[in-house]
Amino acid sequence: MGGGGGGVGVGVGGSSTPCAACKLLRRRCAPGCVFAPYFPAEEAQRFAMVHRVFGASNVSKMLQEVAPARRADAVSSLVYEASARVRDPVYGCVAAISSLQHQVSQLQMQLALAHAEILICVQPPPSPPPHGHPPAAVAPQDDQHILLNAHHQLMLQDAYLKQESMWT
Ligand SMILES: [Zn+2]
Repeated sequence: MGGGGGGVGVGVGGSSTPCAACKLLRRRCAPGCVFAPYFPAEEAQRFAMVHRVFGASNVSKMLQEVAPARRADAVSSLVYEASARVRDPVYGCVAAISSLQHQVSQLQMQLALAHAEILICVQPPPSPPPHGHPPAAVAPQDDQHILLNAHHQLMLQDAYLKQESMWT
């Protein structure tokens, strides 16, 4: 049996010192208490926060629906969510999530830009004109641009001609 004695219990065996939940709820901490493994007496604040946001009975239900092996993780996320909600009553942990999502999309954009720059660097320099051809001073992009322009001009011309032909 645990050391008989003082008021200070460093509850490892546990049954003598109520867990933080039972202490706050002023009830007897039964041996199978669902809160005891995750809310030790010395971390009263964690349970207080979770209780404030979710309510002790909801937390108890949630924990019972989760396999024991995953309850510690469930408690960690409940504590995280509760503390975020206490800090930011409007957005809670959504504030963190959306700020991180924003960061992710910014970084994805930067990454895409960096990829594009790498592609430009890796691409062979505009190839020297094959012998025999007149030195084409224009880069391929300019070529394309000129082609597009020419195409545009042709379209305009075509339209113009069609319009004219309506009057003849
Ligand atoms: Zn308890």
